Amino acid sequence: MPKNQFRDDFPILNNVKMNDEPLAYLDNAATSQKPQLVIDRISRYYGYENANIHRATHALALKATDDYEQVRDQVRHFINAKSRDEIIFTRSTTESLNWVAQRWGEAKLKPGDEIVLSILEHHSNLVPWQQVAKKTGARLRFLDFNQEGVIDLNAAKKTINAKTKIVSITQVSNVLGSIQPVKELAIMAHEVNAIMIVDAAQSVPHFKIDVQNLDCDFLAFSAHKMLGPTGVGVLYGKSELLEKIDPEFFGGEMIEEVSKNEASFKSGALRFEAGTQNIAGVIAFGAALTYLQKVGFDKIAAQDRSLMEAAISALQNRPQVKIYGSADPANHTGIISFNVGEIHPHDVSTVFDLDGVAIRAGHHCAEPLMNRLGVSATCRASFYFYNNLDDVERFLIAIKDTEDFFNRHPSKESSNG
Ligand code: PMP
Repeated sequence: MPKNQFRDDFPILNNVKMNDEPLAYLDNAATSQKPQLVIDRISRYYGYENANIHRATHALALKATDDYEQVRDQVRHFINAKSRDEIIFTRSTTESLNWVAQRWGEAKLKPGDEIVLSILEHHSNLVPWQQVAKKTGARLRFLDFNQEGVIDLNAAKKTINAKTKIVSITQVSNVLGSIQPVKELAIMAHEVNAIMIVDAAQSVPHFKIDVQNLDCDFLAFSAHKMLGPTGVGVLYGKSELLEKIDPEFFGGEMIEEVSKNEASFKSGALRFEAGTQNIAGVIAFGAALTYLQKVGFDKIAAQDRSLMEAAISALQNRPQVKIYGSADPANHTGIISFNVGEIHPHDVSTVFDLDGVAIRAGHHCAEPLMNRLGVSATCRASFYFYNNLDDVERFLIAIKDTEDFFNRHPSKESSNG
């Protein structure tokens, strides 16, 4: 088996055992592993460079400020935003989406206005809009998907109408791995003067995103799913929209001038980043982006493809296994959701755990999608470019072990149906 050239960069993959078995980490959609250089970057910052940013003029503070702001430029180039002022650092995709829902949705929506989501959304792109709808009297509408797990554009044409003010859609389903036609949906949204928001938590780690080409108005993602640390998220917003939004939090370093009774605020992204930011996290995210760019999206896509092909073709020979979504490996972006007969997904993941294979079982923060699929939960294996065919083999052995165990000990309760 050819050696995966990136694997040795990730200490956890070679050094950690799970239940005395070498770790096969297949829970990348939950969070990716971190290369040593990202871990080192955090410790170098705290060990040798620690200072607050945008404040003091001593050399240490200036360097930390520079390093932090350079990552804003890096992110800008990474997603091809027009300006660095369009990149706001948050804590996560969840915070970014809540921010847009509250700062834009609550301020702009009126009773009778419509917010269009899909039935595939992660709760982070659903629950904030439910709250906005309750507060403003706006109505939620949902786009369905086809057999391939892809939003049906013909149905979308009928749902997106003059009442639509917001369309907010995930670019890759965190359950099915299917890629959604967000560019086409952005065109439809703009035709009726609505804004288009993209939840890119599962797409940015896997393929090149160009926000100008997508022509989305906001886009959200998390550093921790793309080799970076937890606690760092990105919200991209078009300048012309951000200019119309008031800051949510007030305090240090987002102000221009303050008198006893009045304050004026900075322009650009900084007025939305009140207080001391996650400096170490953002700087280490910069190291993660540099590494990811060296790997390159061509290699990431090729590895996604070869792992998905190997896993899906083997699973298709196992009649007990049901895969959700497309039969085409190309439409899985590193994610396979499945069930094994009537065995409860938590029981499946327990056998996997004993085999040293980390997968996720549950509703994946997408309960409406589970209802739509007619199950209460699924198992989800999610791969990234540092996984190899050995991991796929371990995954397939764990499936066989699950089947063997439950054939020997049939469960009385069924489960996922
Ligand atoms: N959206 C999608 C599609 C996701 O997969 C996730 C993470 N599972 C989120 C949003 C939320 O990301 P975070 O927990 O980093 O805020």
